[in-house]
Amino acid sequence: MDTARIPPSAPVPGPVPAAVPGPDAPVLTVADGGGRRELPGYAMELIAFAAIGIAVMLLIPGSTLTRAAGALALVALAVSRGWAHGRELGPAARAAPPLLFALCISALSAATAEPLYDVILCFNVLVVALQEDRRTLAVVIGGTWIALAVPAAIHPMDLGLRALVWAVLLPILSVPIQRRSEELRVRVGLGPRLRSLQAAMLSNPDSRETLIESAPGLTGCEIVLLVEPDSSGTFVVTAANRSGLTGTAVPEDARSLVHRTVRAGRPVFVPDAANATDVPPQLHDDFAELSTWFCAPVMRSGLVAAVLVTAWGEQIGKADDLRVDIVRSLASEASTTIDHTDLLRSLSDTASRDPLTGLTNRRGWDGLLAKEMAIARSRRTPLAVAIIDLDRFKEFNDVHGHRAGDRLLREAAGSWTAAIRKGDELARWGGEEFTLLLPDCGGACALDVVERLRADTPGGQTCSAGVAAWNGRESAAELFERMDAALYAAKAAGRDMALLAAPPEQDRPLESLAR
Ligand code: GH3
Ligand code: MG
Ligand code: MG
Repeated sequence: MDTARIPPSAPVPGPVPAAVPGPDAPVLTVADGGGRRELPGYAMELIAFAAIGIAVMLLIPGSTLTRAAGALALVALAVSRGWAHGRELGPAARAAPPLLFALCISALSAATAEPLYDVILCFNVLVVALQEDRRTLAVVIGGTWIALAVPAAIHPMDLGLRALVWAVLLPILSVPIQRRSEELRVRVGLGPRLRSLQAAMLSNPDSRETLIESAPGLTGCEIVLLVEPDSSGTFVVTAANRSGLTGTAVPEDARSLVHRTVRAGRPVFVPDAANATDVPPQLHDDFAELSTWFCAPVMRSGLVAAVLVTAWGEQIGKADDLRVDIVRSLASEASTTIDHTDLLRSLSDTASRDPLTGLTNRRGWDGLLAKEMAIARSRRTPLAVAIIDLDRFKEFNDVHGHRAGDRLLREAAGSWTAAIRKGDELARWGGEEFTLLLPDCGGACALDVVERLRADTPGGQTCSAGVAAWNGRESAAELFERMDAALYAAKAAGRDMALLAAPPEQDRPLESLAR
């Protein structure tokens, strides 16, 4: 990727914690990837151990006592694994039952000089390879070597050569089994994780952020960027897990990984960036600590709509590595979910915005009024509303035409918006009527604001306004009714004025009601 404008000194905060419950933890570990063993799986294991226990009793020569001890050791191993099932245990605790088992078998082997016990020791290691992580397997292999060596040292003629063969075969057999089974567990666990990520992306208004926050946890990558073209076609980082990168443009360059991904419409994989010659020099300069880069296209209607860029500190040898596969899946998830949330956002924007003036419309204002009433109630702060109506606007249209009328509406919206403070909301209620929401403002303050706006009415036109201060109890409809009544009173009194609505009847002093 070209990173000419990416600041080299950008801080490296490391992966951002994931926001969604599913995909937050590192995926490439046994504890997280595999999930907990279900009961049928454990029952199968118990049956297997019991079968071997019976085989020990039947096949292995020697005294009944030693054979029974062997069978018992197997059952004890199965039971201890059952106890460990579902518990959060560290590597030492996970390695303890198979090590203990190896010790028992070793003792039996030393006592009987029976070579068949070697097979049971290997079975123990293979079970660990199937179910545990690499570290636990390494510990158990180490323990098993000792379990093979001690009886072999006591009975070199009977056990020496076999022990040597098993010692060599054990890692050769078990390490690939462990790697494959761990990968399988992660892949099986990936479906639900991706589904929960998709759900989080769909429910979060900012699906890009959700994607970026989840990717490091799911893939183990150190950097993740979403790069999308802006309106001029320049590819720009729209979301990143490192600060300072969002908003950075990726200049067009023959070696740029982003542009190569776009041109090819296929992923670009750089397993060893440090020794690659066809990558932008910035990759060596600014991201020297990152070895493997992978860019996946985010496709939309057969075209590349964005590029998901990921990088790892360690070298990933193959493009079909699980972590790379996950990035591919994320890129295909991203296409639909980003589309969906962008569409939802633009729909909700359209639904609450007036197309002529760009102001919030009646629907949007109703929502904002309800929100501000709740805030004012909880904080016990004042809140006022106003309705402003252009005077004799019909006449203006008749004289100057509807296009001039539209222009006046737009100009009024512009100059009034410029005259209110941040947090106030001007809306087009409908026709030539505008409503104003004024948090932290009482009746007198609202009247001042409205007079300021009236003075800014463009085109030499006048307007009338009704203002009402919320009493903290009445409903939005009651408040609106008082504000509207004040506007009618202003119109009836000759227009070109703003009137403050009388408080609701129940708030007025008794004498004033009697009068
Ligand atoms: P008053 O002083 O009593 O408010 O009189 P008025 O003429 O402003 O009020 P009236 O309700 O009689 O007319 C409102 C006019 O606003 C009628 C309509 O043609 C015009 N109007 C409403 N919406 C638009 C619009 O989007 N564009 C234009 N140009 N005119 C509009
Ligand atoms: Mg009107
Ligand atoms: Mg009017």
